[in-house]
Amino acid sequence: MARFLDSVCKRCRREQMKLFLKGSRCFSPKCPIDREAPPPGMHGTRRSKTSEYGIRLREKQRLKWFYGVFERQFRRYFELATRSPADTGEVLLAILERRLDNVIHRLGFSPSRAGARQIVAHGHVEVNGRKCDIPSMLLKPGDKVKMKVRPRSQTLAKTSLQQTPTQVPDFLTITNNEEPEGQMTRLPTRQDVDPRIADIREQLIIEIVTR
Ligand code: SF4
Repeated sequence: MARFLDSVCKRCRREQMKLFLKGSRCFSPKCPIDREAPPPGMHGTRRSKTSEYGIRLREKQRLKWFYGVFERQFRRYFELATRSPADTGEVLLAILERRLDNVIHRLGFSPSRAGARQIVAHGHVEVNGRKCDIPSMLLKPGDKVKMKVRPRSQTLAKTSLQQTPTQVPDFLTITNNEEPEGQMTRLPTRQDVDPRIADIREQLIIEIVTR
């Protein structure tokens, strides 16, 4: 599994907006965006007009970084979305929402997507009663996601649920709060996209990927 090893806060500084990549730190006064840190690099403070291409590129990068997806996998998701008769941009967003690490995060079992990815990769999660350690797995309606019944796994999810209360989206339900367990009830739609990235302009992303 590829990993981004640089400071993830640089990504937020690059976009000059919060991408919520670090869990509780993102809500603390330590967040560089709250402290008005400039974009990274020696010319970070220099302002220049962004080209039409640059606007589209930044939109794509923002979406990829928010969901923690690398370019190759993003292109694969885009390819998958173009095969659907529905709106490509909306299908692309729905695919990203269906990722197992995203579902774990949106159920509140982990304060960040990166944390959720680690929880899954370390074998703390079961999908439909079977261990699953693939964070990029795409869930289907009816799939049940559960933390393993062992103290370490349960504590991870319960601590997150207590410390960072989240609004569970309509396409997911928490079916048992004693032993953290959730279910995907239907496919996500455009309205179910994480509100923190809901302003994304998917049409611009389509334009840059297909150019
Ligand atoms: Fe870092 Fe989170 Fe702030 Fe982004 S939102 S700069 S990841 S602390």
